[in-house]
Amino acid sequence: MNDFDRLHLWHPYTSTIDPLPCYEVESASGAVIRLKDGRELIDGMSSWWCVIHGYSHPVLVEAAKRQIDKMSHVMFGGLTHQPAIELGQLLLSILPPNMEHIFYADSGSVATEVAMKMAIQAIDDPGRTGFATIRSGYHGDTWNAMSVCDPVTGMHGAFGNDLPVRFFADAPKVKFGSEWDPADFDSMRTLLEEHHHEIAAVILEPIVQGAGGMRFYHPQYLRELRSICDKYDILLIFDEIATGFGRTGELFAYRHADVYPDIMLIGKAITGGFMTFAAVATNAEVAKRISASQSKCMMHGPTFMGNPLACAVALASTRLLLTSPWQEKIKHIEDIMTQRLAPAADFPEVEDVRVLGGIGVIELKEPVDIADFQKRCVDEGVWIRPFGKNAYIMPPFMAITDEQLIHLCDSLLKLIRKSQ
Ligand SMILES: *Cc1c(COP(=O)(O)O)cnc(C)c1O
Repeated sequence: MNDFDRLHLWHPYTSTIDPLPCYEVESASGAVIRLKDGRELIDGMSSWWCVIHGYSHPVLVEAAKRQIDKMSHVMFGGLTHQPAIELGQLLLSILPPNMEHIFYADSGSVATEVAMKMAIQAIDDPGRTGFATIRSGYHGDTWNAMSVCDPVTGMHGAFGNDLPVRFFADAPKVKFGSEWDPADFDSMRTLLEEHHHEIAAVILEPIVQGAGGMRFYHPQYLRELRSICDKYDILLIFDEIATGFGRTGELFAYRHADVYPDIMLIGKAITGGFMTFAAVATNAEVAKRISASQSKCMMHGPTFMGNPLACAVALASTRLLLTSPWQEKIKHIEDIMTQRLAPAADFPEVEDVRVLGGIGVIELKEPVDIADFQKRCVDEGVWIRPFGKNAYIMPPFMAITDEQLIHLCDSLLKLIRKSQ
């Protein structure tokens, strides 16, 4: 472990006084992360779900190099460029068909902030500035994003009194693939019936709730939600930052339900995990209402908006995905994970095993001892980082081989047996 790093660098969600250990990475390619001491790890995390093509993919490296020779950055105020235009065209051709306008943002959390500001501006009513969401959600770490994360597992404990107060409905209980029960929508229906006159928008992750609990829910929930939002003129925001670009077996998770949001967020895998970037798409109505509001325009414009380097890599990554047999690859990975993780369902320490697309989750009865888990993980030659009670694998799906994936799954079964 590097002393300077341990003493001076902040890492996510760990103490500076007694930090969890960090392993120094020398390089990464395909589905393999190479540590400084020479050990190689098969990656089961896609670096927090974004590295879909694997590390250092030559097509993305080439796109970045080509763009950097022309210009790495230029301001988006008053100027535009081909990478932004071509990426916008491509995104609109694959996003829900009602989407017409795109706002480029720096990261997922910023995209959430932008979407929430858009909703307030579009509704343009000082009495209707509230947001509703479902429990067990995750939308990022900035202030407003935190306020719509799960109030228990999220960061409300540390910031609760200072966070804007939101409306929380129960998380959907009916699982993806099981039979729909209309009672599952009661909590949200009641909430919106009682508070619709205070609410500008509902924000949620469609089908898969990621960092808030790794839960997969029934598509009918989204159809019910669309219909009641229409009834009360409440805007519907889908956060597809984690689910976008193939991860759930559809290009975007809304396709499982076939209902369209008014505002949609994409991020994480948008650059194939090359660099930070995100986008907020809206339908024509939202854009029109913002332009007709008191402020006449969207009140947000970050320094690195539409960064050409990020746009060029996002364009290359999205083209690469669309021209590859990604749907077959995800199905194949889903089959292997379903088969290989199934035995865990009989382990006494396991609560539930579930697989959807390129996401395999083993939910445990007790939280994982992360330091011990990761040490044994590295000894096994794999990289898996559980949170709370969820030990999951989300491999770089276009890069991983069957052999690597089987090793990941079998290692995970071994690792969960002693880490609580
Ligand atoms: C990761 C994530 C975010 C936040 O994105 P960052 O790029 O980490 O700021 C927002 N929403 C969802 C669903 C996410 O998974």
